[in-house]
Amino acid sequence: PVKRNQEIQEARMELPICAEEQIIMETISNNPVVIICGETGSGKTTQVPQFLYEAGYGNKDSDNPGIIGITQPRRIAAVSMSKRVAQELSLSEQEVSYQIRYDATVSPKTVIKFMTDGVLLRELANDFLLSKYSAVIIDEAHERSLNTDILIGAISRVLKLRAELSKEDGSKIRPIKVIIMSATLRVSDFTQNKNLFDVAPPVINVNTRQFPVSIHFNKRTPNFDYVSEAFKKVCKIHTKLPHGGILVFLTGQDEITLLCKKFRRKFPYLMQNQYNSKQMLEKEKTFREVEQERESLNSKEADFEIEDLDIGEEELEETELLDTDSEDFEENLENDEMIMDEHSRPLYVLPLYSLLSTHAQLRVFEPPPEGTRLCVVATNVAETSLTIPGIKYVVDCGKVKGRRYDVATGVQSYVVDWTSKASADQRAGRAGRTGPGHCYRLFSSAVFNDQFQQFTVPEIHRMPIEGIVLQMKAMNIDTVNNFPFPTPPDRDRLRKAEKLLQYMNALDEDGRITELGRTMATFPIAPRFSKMLIIGQQHGCLPYIIAIVSALSVVDPFIKDYHLDNSTNSDDDVKEEEYEEVRSNELNKLSEEAILQKERQKLIRKKFYDVQKKHAGLDPTSDLLKLLNVVGAYEYEGGTDKFCECNFVRPKAMEEIRKLRGQITNIIQMNCPGVDVCLDPKMKPPSTIQLKAIRQVITAGFIDQIAIRKGLIDKSSKIFSSTRNVEYCTMWGNDNVFIHPTSVLFHNKPPDFVVYQELYKTSKVWMKGVTIVESS
Ligand code: ADP
Ligand code: MG
Repeated sequence: PVKRNQEIQEARMELPICAEEQIIMETISNNPVVIICGETGSGKTTQVPQFLYEAGYGNKDSDNPGIIGITQPRRIAAVSMSKRVAQELSLSEQEVSYQIRYDATVSPKTVIKFMTDGVLLRELANDFLLSKYSAVIIDEAHERSLNTDILIGAISRVLKLRAELSKEDGSKIRPIKVIIMSATLRVSDFTQNKNLFDVAPPVINVNTRQFPVSIHFNKRTPNFDYVSEAFKKVCKIHTKLPHGGILVFLTGQDEITLLCKKFRRKFPYLMQNQYNSKQMLEKEKTFREVEQERESLNSKEADFEIEDLDIGEEELEETELLDTDSEDFEENLENDEMIMDEHSRPLYVLPLYSLLSTHAQLRVFEPPPEGTRLCVVATNVAETSLTIPGIKYVVDCGKVKGRRYDVATGVQSYVVDWTSKASADQRAGRAGRTGPGHCYRLFSSAVFNDQFQQFTVPEIHRMPIEGIVLQMKAMNIDTVNNFPFPTPPDRDRLRKAEKLLQYMNALDEDGRITELGRTMATFPIAPRFSKMLIIGQQHGCLPYIIAIVSALSVVDPFIKDYHLDNSTNSDDDVKEEEYEEVRSNELNKLSEEAILQKERQKLIRKKFYDVQKKHAGLDPTSDLLKLLNVVGAYEYEGGTDKFCECNFVRPKAMEEIRKLRGQITNIIQMNCPGVDVCLDPKMKPPSTIQLKAIRQVITAGFIDQIAIRKGLIDKSSKIFSSTRNVEYCTMWGNDNVFIHPTSVLFHNKPPDFVVYQELYKTSKVWMKGVTIVESS
């Protein structure tokens, strides 16, 4: 018997998927695999687990005693959805739990478990039958994330095994139910692939009341500055159009931070006297919290993201208002940018991106304060993973930030590029959940038609695959060529990945997994990092290696100098001469403050460079050792936010590194009985011998990513005092590569050999995370 409170019960009844509960449950009980398609917001993620739960799945006394598992491509969704479902079912966080790489609330009481797809993939290596689950839901399958694709392939086999074993002895093992959920109808890669499911699984389409969304293209496409364009568009919407929430799609945290700041300056909502002071204080507090959290991290992680529908008559008017890109208006706006608009209603601005704390993320679900308009500025996490209530206007920059990976050379780049037509349509759809809406695209229809791809390319075709090849081998899938990939990668790439793994001794000559490989697969990190752990046991170096690989597996914790202005609340974008024209007292005060601010900034910059030097050490030989230094110092000083502030590192990244260190240490304690390792908060700095050993481990881990100074090959006798413009060549591409200016080695005499952590392409190809290789 499920207890739900009244309010939740009512909200549920509104969800389209609840009308289909009976059909869905019947189909599930009659079929091993079911595909459910439904628009974002129709209730798939929050409701389907509850349908299963109410039908007895997860109940120890039922036919299906195993727990219900739900996978998500993003951590943010796994965490926030588990909290929501717990709340809807009035169950505890132990009963409806989540597990992500760093964190888990899982307990023996767990009945419903949300997790990232990587977590379930790793579980498959230890238990290919997934025996603790009675049902597994693979969510957001339309996104075609690498892990999701592999999971679906692997689970198609689990399914058969469980079915066969249950025929032999149904009392021991029961068949497993698999539900694949997608926000789009494009599921033919799953249904038509005989290799995957020999009988095409039934597809249930959830009928959604999607209201018409009018699409408005820009006449012109701004070249780069879509953030300013978004600012202008939102100002127009807010000052001219009727109520309704605004959702802005940008590509990453920096842009989001910048835009939120502009909005808050223009439409400050604390100025309004419709709040009493107590409310104001409260609001201010939450705002500061958001502000702090907002500033706490920068995303390195790739942040992921309808054709003209009918336009009602009433809509037409609004449309015209905004479609004329009146030059006057724009110019005015340009000058007005920093002038507070005291006549408009306040704008309740919330950022939303993966690395924001859960607490701050959940705020988008709450109704905005009375008298304000909600404006969420998000990455494409708001495209299908999270549904924000009350959105009527979508402003879409049309771009997405993604990791590009050159399969041949291993060069990575984070590029901002046009998204696909399918995903632009998803974004537009966000405006039509609660009523007719509008989507303003900050690009022209010509650009959309000519330059947007139809669909986003599945991740498996644009990411390194050695990690998942190792995972597959750990599941005893020996011939990866025959693996039922929804869309298989090139055989050539699979062969290359196997070769790299053989190189690391994770696979034997026949491509079978070795003991070493099996151990490597138990760590939630890339194979080369696991390898470093395993060879890192000499000279008592293991704790240092653990710290290094943990740090390398998390986003870069160092704040970069170009972030300084953002994180110190400066008003860099307000030119000083512009202040003179401003008569308002408020802004005069602002101007004085701005000058002070500039001074403060200079000091901060100096401090910043001093700190970088400190962590680099006296005789810098490796960026990875700088990372180790900062992790060590952080723990030594108790891991405080104060430390992070003084040392220009991101608190959330540091915290994740700490959690991962703990986790890796645990795995070693459990799996490697001979190894004595514990988590020492007061880890001493490594000795000279240890430093040398650590560098050797790093070199071994990145041995395929070695770079040689070109002058050494050319026998050039030119002498350099810094590495600026010094050319290196790698084993792979023909491009010259360079040591990145942020490297601790940049200002030193250029070493002959280095290994790099990654290649990164901007104007040049840069090596990042560089370590000197000693010719011993
Ligand atoms: P889908 O998975 O089909 O996209 P969801 O199950 O995520 O749909 O969302 C269904 C509804 O539940 C949405 O209208 C969303 O606004 C609401 N919802 C989801 N999470 C929360 C939350 N934490 N608080 C309030 N409402 C939520
Ligand atoms: Mg969902």
